[in-house]
Amino acid sequence: MRAKAIAVILAAMAGAFASLPVRADETIPFTLVISRAEVAHRPALAMSVTFRGGASGETVVHLPNEWASEKELWRGLKSLTVKNASFASPIVEPQTRRLTHVPSAQITLAWEIIQGYSGEPNFGDTKSLFRPTVNEHTVIGALQTMLPSFEIAPGRVLGLDPHIRTVPPLFCDIAITFENFPKNWALATAFGATANQSIRAARCDALWNSNLALGDFRVREAKDAHGVVRLAVRGKWALSDQALLARFSAARAAAAEAFQDPGPPQILVSLAGTEPLAHGQAVFGTAFSYGFFGFATPNASLASLKVWWNHEQVHYWIPNRLGQEMEGAETALAWFNEGFTDYFSLMNAYRTHELDAKSLAEEVNTRFIAGYLKSPAREAPNAKIVEGFWSDRTLQQLPYQRGALLALNWNAEIKKASNNKQSLADLISELIEQARQNPNVVLTPSRIAEAARTSGVANAAADIASYIDAGHLITPREDIFGPCTRYDQAKGALALTGNGWTTAACATWLK
Ligand SMILES: [Zn+2]
Repeated sequence: MRAKAIAVILAAMAGAFASLPVRADETIPFTLVISRAEVAHRPALAMSVTFRGGASGETVVHLPNEWASEKELWRGLKSLTVKNASFASPIVEPQTRRLTHVPSAQITLAWEIIQGYSGEPNFGDTKSLFRPTVNEHTVIGALQTMLPSFEIAPGRVLGLDPHIRTVPPLFCDIAITFENFPKNWALATAFGATANQSIRAARCDALWNSNLALGDFRVREAKDAHGVVRLAVRGKWALSDQALLARFSAARAAAAEAFQDPGPPQILVSLAGTEPLAHGQAVFGTAFSYGFFGFATPNASLASLKVWWNHEQVHYWIPNRLGQEMEGAETALAWFNEGFTDYFSLMNAYRTHELDAKSLAEEVNTRFIAGYLKSPAREAPNAKIVEGFWSDRTLQQLPYQRGALLALNWNAEIKKASNNKQSLADLISELIEQARQNPNVVLTPSRIAEAARTSGVANAAADIASYIDAGHLITPREDIFGPCTRYDQAKGALALTGNGWTTAACATWLK
């Protein structure tokens, strides 16, 4: 990651659907205990889980392995021990262990976690943004990098299914206990901020789709019609903690309204400062189904923070609510998962009055249009992006820019075809509805194209084949900003003159 770049990179993993009503006897008890510990005089976390093992007498343990750019995460789990079961040998794969036990035995698995890199979180070391931080002041981490998943029968996984999401999903009663932490430490997850937390009848992968913020965080909570937003923050920012919390709640409400789908019932947003950069600023975020986290340099501007929280919030819906994840989606489908998310994050900032119409156009000009037109990789086929996403910053940015431009074009086309009655947000609502009706449905380019076609995009499949797969240059439509202003092809930018911004027609069109 280059120092001057504002990095907003997302690794959205398997998501969670809203909890379905289930009978208490259908839920699976699952207990997680997290304690403060020391390993070789270094601060560590001791973690243990207790659950009922497989009825066949075998349970497969999938240790955390890959997440975003990181591999072999299982190396960070030390001193693995088990009670009421034994490890079968030989070990076939280092990230997979087999437990044998009395059928349906109550098993406890324990391990320790030490920090996965050295020093404090910093933009010079990607590991520090993805791997657990465990030091004397704080613990920061995505739970999926710290917790194994447990396959209690073929296709029945407590946690993240390494193959495909468990369908139908399993529901768990999850209890989390924090032990042995200093009294003044924050103990925040999406599900609470006290030493004993519980999640009843939630999808069993809820815990793995959330994050931890412990230690010197300041914790604030807000409740609105959509549920609880919990903020855990370290460092000083352009806004007060209360103001940040209010903006996060507003962003969630606006996105839920746009997609006509309620947001998660509770989320944890954590924001932690990194070491400053010699030059410039940086913000980085990752979204989970139950919240998102961010790292930012202490000088992060309000404008960059806005991009961060709107982008990560939109990820709750894109792609998490749109069905099963296609294999390789993180890079191959980044044009949609990241590009469309970037488009909706700007629209969300407009809806929450973080941007007015003209500043929205300025953002579109700078981030999407200029970014794309100046990109030395702008005509790279999608296969090149898949190849270089984690190693080449230009290739990593391209699907964000390219996808957002396609989103702008499609939105204008849908508006025109429907006489302004529909917009691109309705396409997302349609995909959400399909996934609600059939949780097995996979999010693929052809499914996106078909939903776009029925929404009024004339050549959606051909657009994807040409602009995404083959990488042909996208030209923004003249009407991508409706009656507010026009795209000036000679300048390669939205015209920023005129007073279309202030008209009622512009406000209606952008709604
Ligand atoms: Zn993202």
